[in-house]
Amino acid sequence: MLADRVNLIALSPTLRISARAGQMRAQGIDVVDFSAGEPDFPTPEPIKRAAKAAIDANFTKYVANDGIPELKAAIAQKLEKDNGLKYDLNEIIVSTGAKHSLLNIALSLFGPGDDVLIPSPCWVSYPDQVRMAGGNPVLIETRESNGFRLQAKDLAQAITPNTKALLLNYPCNPTGAVYSKEDLQAIADICVREQITVIADEIYEKLIYDGTRFTSIASLGDKIKKLAVVVNGFSKAYSMTGWRLGYAAGPRELIAACSKIQSHSTSNATSFVQKAAVEALKSCAPEVERMRAEFERRRNFVIYKLNAIPGVSCITPQGAFYALPNVRPYLGKEFGGAPIRNTYGLAYYLLKEAHVAVVPGEAFEAHEHLRLSFATSMDRLEEGMRRIERALLRLEEPRSIRPKALNNVVTKIRAYVETRSAPGLDGRNELLREAEAHLPADAYFEWNAAVAGAVVQLRTNSPHLADFFQENFYPAPLESEVEPHAVIYAVKDAPGREPSAFLHSETATAFAFNTAFYGQVRSLALALAAEQASRASGALMAHAAALDLEGKGVLVWGAPGSGRTAVLGAALARDGVKLVASDAVLVRLGAASAVADLPERKLYLKAKWGKHFPEVEKLLDRCKLENLVTSRDQCHLEWCAQGDHCPLDSGAAACLLASDKGRLMLDPYWLGGSKRHVRRTAPRLCVLLAKDPVLPAVRDLTASDAARQLASGHLPGLAAANPVPFLDPHRHWLSGPAADAVRGQFERLFGGTRCVLLNTAIGSPEAQAKRLLDLVP
Ligand code: PMP
Repeated sequence: MLADRVNLIALSPTLRISARAGQMRAQGIDVVDFSAGEPDFPTPEPIKRAAKAAIDANFTKYVANDGIPELKAAIAQKLEKDNGLKYDLNEIIVSTGAKHSLLNIALSLFGPGDDVLIPSPCWVSYPDQVRMAGGNPVLIETRESNGFRLQAKDLAQAITPNTKALLLNYPCNPTGAVYSKEDLQAIADICVREQITVIADEIYEKLIYDGTRFTSIASLGDKIKKLAVVVNGFSKAYSMTGWRLGYAAGPRELIAACSKIQSHSTSNATSFVQKAAVEALKSCAPEVERMRAEFERRRNFVIYKLNAIPGVSCITPQGAFYALPNVRPYLGKEFGGAPIRNTYGLAYYLLKEAHVAVVPGEAFEAHEHLRLSFATSMDRLEEGMRRIERALLRLEEPRSIRPKALNNVVTKIRAYVETRSAPGLDGRNELLREAEAHLPADAYFEWNAAVAGAVVQLRTNSPHLADFFQENFYPAPLESEVEPHAVIYAVKDAPGREPSAFLHSETATAFAFNTAFYGQVRSLALALAAEQASRASGALMAHAAALDLEGKGVLVWGAPGSGRTAVLGAALARDGVKLVASDAVLVRLGAASAVADLPERKLYLKAKWGKHFPEVEKLLDRCKLENLVTSRDQCHLEWCAQGDHCPLDSGAAACLLASDKGRLMLDPYWLGGSKRHVRRTAPRLCVLLAKDPVLPAVRDLTASDAARQLASGHLPGLAAANPVPFLDPHRHWLSGPAADAVRGQFERLFGGTRCVLLNTAIGSPEAQAKRLLDLVP
C-alpha cells in the first residue's frame, strides 16, 4: 500500500504532456512540441569528447560521494569568477541534476510544521519536493503587472514563526522573471532580519536577455551568504539534460547533510559525466553564448507573435526559455459545444485540434496562462504559432444562452436504471460495438477524470453528461503512457434501446444507453474506481457521508428514508463540524489508522439537501443543476408546505421542495471555505442509521456485527423491498467472494473505530445530531 506522502504529490505534468505528444508523433502525427523543458541544441562537442576520453580511461567506477575534487574545484572557480562567491570544497556537493540537489536540500531542512515560501507561478517540483520532505509549501502569488517578481512587502507579509525557507528561482521557470540587484537586496534584508534560509535555484543563470547581468542573491554580503544555498547545474546552459548533473553550494553543515542523504540514495553522480562537466566549465562559454543569442532571437519572435493574437497578452521573459501568455479571454469559450474550462482544457484542445503541445499554466499555479518553451527551432516556432492562432480564433462564444440565473438541464430519464453485469466478454464486446456506432466524430466528447486514484474516461455523445462529469471530478493527468484504468460509454439516442446500464468488471468497462441522467454515469464512475482502488491498493470505497470534527471523522450510512440528510444538516449547523463527503468516501486502511478522502471535486447533491442546509439554496446560481423545478407547471406536489405562497410565483428561480428529482453540483468550499469543508479526515466513529421506535436511541456494535449489518444492506426499521449490500447502490451487484472481501475490509475499518447503530426514530434531527457528535471518541 502506498504511503500517504505519495498521495500528496502528482506525476510531473510536463512529463505527461511531452509523453502524450511523443505518442502522437509515434502515430505519425506532426506535433509541434512547445512543452519540453530543455534546449534543442546538441551537447557541445568538447563535452562529449571529454566524456568519451574518461570512459576510454576507465573512469567508470564509484567516485567520491559528493563529487570528484577536480569538478568541485572547477565549480568553486566558476562561482568565484561568475558570481563573486567564495566557497570551500566542503561547501559544494555535486548531484544527479539540480533537481536532485534541491531534493537533498529539502530532505535536509524540512519536516512537519515547516512552511516553505515559494513565489508562484513556480516550477512544478518545488511544492511536491517540500511535501515529500514533510514540510508545507506556502505559495506567494506574484503579479503579472510586476513582471511576476516577488515583492519585498509580499514576502514580509507571508512570513510567520513557522517559515523556514524561501525558494527563489530566477531566471524563473515558467515566468522568465529576473531580479535586479536592488530587488534582491530588499529580499535579502528581510531574510537576514527573519533568519530565513534562501534556496536560490540559478539553473537558468546563463540564459538571460537584453544585456541584463545576473546577480546571485548569495553574493550580497556575508550575512545572506550564510543563509543561502545556491543550486545550479549543467542541464540548461550546456544542453546536458539527459546527462543529469547539478550542484549545490552553501553552509558546510547543510552540504554535509545533503552528502549523508546522497550517500544512501544515488551515491556519486556519474563519474565520466563529472569529467565532461569540468570541460564544460573550462571551455564551452562560446557555445553557451551562441545558444543564448539564438534563444533571445526566438524569444523576440514568439513574444511578438503571441501579442499579435487577439485577446492574448504576454509579458517579455528576461531569462530562461519559456513564454507565459495570458489566455484568459479564451477560457470559457467553446469548441463544438464543449466548453474550455481551464488551462488544462485549453492545452488539451490545442494538442488535439492544432497538434501543438503546450503546458497548462495550472501546472505552475498560473491559472490564466499557458507555458510555451521556445527552445525549439525557428521553423517549428513559426508553424506552431500559426497553428495556435488559428485554433484559438476557432473557439466560439458559449452558444447556448443559459437561463437568466440558473444553469439547469432537464433530462428525460431522472432516476437510476439498474446497472447489470455485462454478460461475459462477448456480450461486453457486443455492447462496445453498439456504443461506438453511436459516437460519431462530430458529436463526441471524451474526458479523463481522476476518481479515487484511477483514471476513468468518459466517452459520450451527450454534452450534458460530459459537462457534469468534468465538473464532478478532478481532471486526470492530461494523457500519459498509461491507458485509462476504466472507460464509460454513455450513449443517448440509440434507437430501439430501453434506458439501460451495464458494467463489465474484468475489462473495467461500463455502458449507459439512452439515459442522460448524470447520476448514472457518476455511479458507474464510482463503481469502476472502487474496483480499481481495491485492486491497486486495498482501498475501500464506502457509500457513506462523512463529517469532520477537529480531525476526527464520522462516517454515516443510511438507507433511503433513514433521515440521514436531516441528521447531517443538524450536525453541520454546529460549530466546528465540517462536511467531508455527502455520499462517498475512499477509505485507506493504513497500518496505524484509516484516512477517508472525498473522491470528488464537487458534490452531486439531491435537491432535498437544500431543505436541511439553508446555505445551499443561496448557491443555486453558482451550481450546475439537473432537473430542478423552475416553473409552476413542472411542480407535481399534491400538497405543499408553502401553501398558496408559491415561491415560483413570486420570482424564485427554482423550488427545491418541488424538485424531488433535482440534483445540484456544489463545490463544498462554497459552504464556508475550509471552516466548513475538509477533503480528508481520520475516521473515529462509524454510524449506521436505523429507524425503529422500539430500539434504544443508540446501540454499540462490534466490528463484525457492524460489517455484517452493512453487508446485508438491511437495517432495523428500514425494510427496503430489495436490500442493497453495503447500502451501496453504486455496487449493488457485489456478491460471493468479492462481497466477502469487501466485508472483511469494512470489518478492519470498524475495528479501528467506534461503531454504533443510531436510531433516527427517537428525537428530533437536532437531538440525534447532538447524540451522534457526543459519541465521537
Ligand atoms: N530548477 C528549475 C527551475 C528547472 O526548470 C529545472 C528543469 N526543468 C530544474 C531545476 C532541474 O534541472 P536538472 O535537469 O539539473 O535536474
